[in-house]
Amino acid sequence: MHTCRNCNQSFQTELALELHRDTCSAGQLFCQVCGDRFSEAAATEDGWHYACPNDDCEGSGLKEDLYLIEDLRTTTH
Ligand SMILES: [Zn+2]
Ligand SMILES: [Zn+2]
Repeated sequence: MHTCRNCNQSFQTELALELHRDTCSAGQLFCQVCGDRFSEAAATEDGWHYACPNDDCEGSGLKEDLYLIEDLRTTTH
């Protein structure tokens, strides 16, 4: 079983989870260092300092390594 860490929905296969993560409304942030997505809540504790929640990733800083998916969408058309 594969579980989306953003919304806790479960999927039978890793592929299904991958597809879901593209549309998961809870995955609002994108880390350009590791390419992962996660919710804002997972990346910050105080709403000020943002860091990638992956242990093996050094990504940190909103609009430095971490970007809002919404911002990426509006800047790539
Ligand atoms: Zn999800
Ligand atoms: Zn990362």
